[in-house]
Amino acid sequence: MERADCIVIGGGVIGLAVARRLAIAGVETLLLEREAVPGSHTSSRNSEVIHAGLYYPTGSCKARLCVRGRQQLYRYCQDRGIAHRRCGKLILAVSEGERATLQSYCDTARRNGVIDLVRLTPSDVTALEPAVRCVAALWSPSTGILDSHGYMQSLLGDLATSGGTFACRAEVVHARLERGRHRVFVQQGGACSEFETRLLVNAAGLDAQAVAQSFAGLDPSTIPPRYPAKGHYFTLQGRAPFHHLIYPVAGGGGLGIHVTLDLAGGVRFGPDVEWILEIDYSIDESRRDAFATAIRRYYPDLDVARLQPGYTGIRPKIAGPGERAADFCIQGPAEHGWPGLVNLYGIESPGLTASLALADEVAAALGVIAAPADN
Ligand SMILES: Cc1cc2nc3c(=O)[nH]c(=O)nc-3n(C[C@H](O)[C@H](O)[C@H](O)COP(=O)(O)OP(=O)(O)OC[C@H]3O[C@@H](n4cnc5c(N)ncnc54)[C@H](O)[C@@H]3O)c2cc1C
Repeated sequence: MERADCIVIGGGVIGLAVARRLAIAGVETLLLEREAVPGSHTSSRNSEVIHAGLYYPTGSCKARLCVRGRQQLYRYCQDRGIAHRRCGKLILAVSEGERATLQSYCDTARRNGVIDLVRLTPSDVTALEPAVRCVAALWSPSTGILDSHGYMQSLLGDLATSGGTFACRAEVVHARLERGRHRVFVQQGGACSEFETRLLVNAAGLDAQAVAQSFAGLDPSTIPPRYPAKGHYFTLQGRAPFHHLIYPVAGGGGLGIHVTLDLAGGVRFGPDVEWILEIDYSIDESRRDAFATAIRRYYPDLDVARLQPGYTGIRPKIAGPGERAADFCIQGPAEHGWPGLVNLYGIESPGLTASLALADEVAAALGVIAAPADN
């Protein structure tokens, strides 16, 4: 049987950030990923936006960790030369009825410590983005974009240089607690190996519930339900008509079909929200017309023939259709009663932005570092 001080399950951006943080703190850490390469699921299927932190309820983990994580992430990208751009974002009211929503964003943002929002008139918006129509807007200068793959590679590099180990094609199939230590069973290349570890982190994303269910003796009532919500993206062929991120007001489980830019200046629209039962990344091209209708509310000149199917991502939600959005669920021993175990559920957006702050939170929950100061 092999031993490690900590095992982190899941090599998405969250598992990578957590494993890196623990290794830097001097914990001998083993990161196990089921797929052949890290970040094969949600961490490679998102908008790559560094969010400011203006939507989330004040005091929630999403709000605290987004604001703190955004600052950490910009610093990290700058220090490590990871491609990123603080390109800013417009949030649009396209009808009189949506003005109140913009006001509520301003209020929430201020309470969350996001104090750089600027109100814009339609003519201000025309000066910035001539193709866009609205009745009022907000400008968020601290929103940006990053190369999420470069970021994950860098986290993996940090893990290795801090003495941590990464194993791919290594699927955790079962764990149990014996005399205060975890026995973890791992399927790798047709063989099952056994590991012993003091600390265990479940960062398995969409599979976090299934992984927790495989922990013998963990109270099942602590495992939240899973409500996967697929988001489709369509790309815009040809010359980009936008220079900034452009968001309508949020609704229906997502942030609305918005415009994001990649670092090469390419435009993509999305993601929409489709509640699903099984994990399936196929793209439903029949959604093009619904996309066109949503996009034309703020970009009336859209040529629908330029919309091309892009990709999909699946949000690991823990609140279902019609329910109030759930917060990140970070369950430590105080919540589930297992010493040395942290389960992470519902790490949807802004998980990428919050990843470094979330890693600190997990390290603190395991008693490895002191609890980080609040924003
Ligand atoms: C459509 C969409 C858009 C988004 N846009 C943004 C955005 O613009 N900005 C932002 O901040 N956030 C965004 N997010 C959120 C962000 O992408 C996620 O919060 C983040 O990627 C979650 O990372 P993760 O590591 O928890 O999950 P994942 O990336 O899914 O990683 C989990 C890993 O666990 C592995 N695994 C599962 N089971 C096992 C097992 N038994 N043993 C070993 N390994 C296992 C999987 O193979 C997987 O690699 C978006 C999300 C979606 C879906």
